[in-house]
Amino acid sequence: MIKRKLHFGSIVIDYGLQYSNRKSLGITVTPEMSVIVSSPQGADLELIEAKLIKRAPWIIRNLSYFLSFHPKTPQRKYVSGETHLYLGRQYLMKILESEKEFVKLNGKYLVVGALNPARAKALVENWYVEQARIKLKKIATPLIENFKKYQVQPTSLEIRSMTKRWGSCTAEGKIILNPELIKAPKGSIEYVIIHELCHLIHHDHTRKFFDLQSKEMKDWEKWKNKLETLLV
Ligand SMILES: [Zn+2]
Repeated sequence: MIKRKLHFGSIVIDYGLQYSNRKSLGITVTPEMSVIVSSPQGADLELIEAKLIKRAPWIIRNLSYFLSFHPKTPQRKYVSGETHLYLGRQYLMKILESEKEFVKLNGKYLVVGALNPARAKALVENWYVEQARIKLKKIATPLIENFKKYQVQPTSLEIRSMTKRWGSCTAEGKIILNPELIKAPKGSIEYVIIHELCHLIHHDHTRKFFDLQSKEMKDWEKWKNKLETLLV
């Protein structure tokens, strides 16, 4: 399989090209979000790409996972010495015996205080959601403000767990953010919010949508990649 890049407007689609005994071009988007192109033997590369360009909107629609949530994080045990992410940084968990339960960041440590160490999981999960409610809204505020120039505004902003998505924008204009985002770097969080704000103007993943997204965040692909690679 040959790895190639297809340029479609401001979008770059990575795909794998393989030659087979088929008579026409076949395009598959796998559940792992890889694009596989099967081409008849000896087909001209320019011709293949011309056909792919025509099918690009279809490919992009199928990749409209764009903000899908694929948690690859290994199961955490919530014990001392384990690493946990917060705003894109790794922190070492330290569990202290304490009458009063707490969770706080201290230097490179995520410190959990509890009498029963088995409480660490619940305490840390709650702490993440609390932080997400505060921080994600704070990061979103100037971005929402910036979109007022397009005469759009979300009807509301909700922080809610979703199993399959980082963010979503409903038909009514409500933006929902996954609290898990608090583990990602600020740039990745901004990318998700800007992506959803762009949906207030374009409700699909058309070229117009991506042009607007690129205008509002030139390096969005970098932050999208970080989001997908860091949270592993
Ligand atoms: Zn989208």
